[in-house]
Amino acid sequence: AKTMVVKIGSSTVTEPGTGVNRSFIARLAHEAVELRSLGWNLVVVSSGAIACGAPVLGFSTRPADMPSLQACASVGQCVLSAAYDEEFRACGLATSLVLLTRHDTARRQSYLHARDALTRLVELGVVPVVNENDTVSVDEIRFGDNDTLAALVACLVSADLCVTLSDIEGLYTANPSIDPNARFVPRVEKIDAAIIASAGDSSSAVGTGGMITKIRSSRILMTAGIPSVICSGADEGALARLARGEQVGTLFV
Ligand code: ADP
Repeated sequence: AKTMVVKIGSSTVTEPGTGVNRSFIARLAHEAVELRSLGWNLVVVSSGAIACGAPVLGFSTRPADMPSLQACASVGQCVLSAAYDEEFRACGLATSLVLLTRHDTARRQSYLHARDALTRLVELGVVPVVNENDTVSVDEIRFGDNDTLAALVACLVSADLCVTLSDIEGLYTANPSIDPNARFVPRVEKIDAAIIASAGDSSSAVGTGGMITKIRSSRILMTAGIPSVICSGADEGALARLARGEQVGTLFV
């Protein structure tokens, strides 16, 4: 079987002000079943803990201080994990929670432990849901992004494809929310200065990465020989079409 790592951005898995986007997760669970029938296992890297926790704790916007962010992450991770587990279980699939910090992939021994656990979970038919442990990794809240984490997870499980589901259908020659002349880029074989310059800052209120972190993570994956795709989380059936080898979004090879 092949393995697909799917990174899900905050703006895809949460709804502004209300928290977790159940209908998205339910759709993902159905796609996971279809992927399995096509011979693909799924590993999810999901953002959204802070955005899910904030409304539970009465914050109408993302709080500014670190302990409040940590509290939101801690509360929100429960809400998020429960939503994944319930929706996937309804489709006959077990999920698991894997919270990583940068230390876990930086130290050789813990890297190997993380790799062994993830590999075994996938072998057992589980869909691991991975996130950064934002409750205890304060630096991760400030600088971290799950695009980089997804690339590391894809390397850990020797993935065959790493897909980033974003709020945009792929890479453009410039940020299309700012530049009306931006053109879509279907395929990238080399990450040069022009590609890096095309990636402006994120315009979404809940995400922390933006296009530049996605390009950096695609570069890590290109070096590792793992193809990656950026496509829209709103594009229904995109993962199954990718599994069938169809062109969706922007492909980095
Ligand atoms: P998510 O959290 O859903 O992964 P991000 O907000 O982190 O999304 O990143 C996607 C956003 O990056 C787009 O909505 C867009 O505003 C911005 N962006 C900046 N430069 C580009 C570019 N060259 N091509 C596409 N999107 C870009």
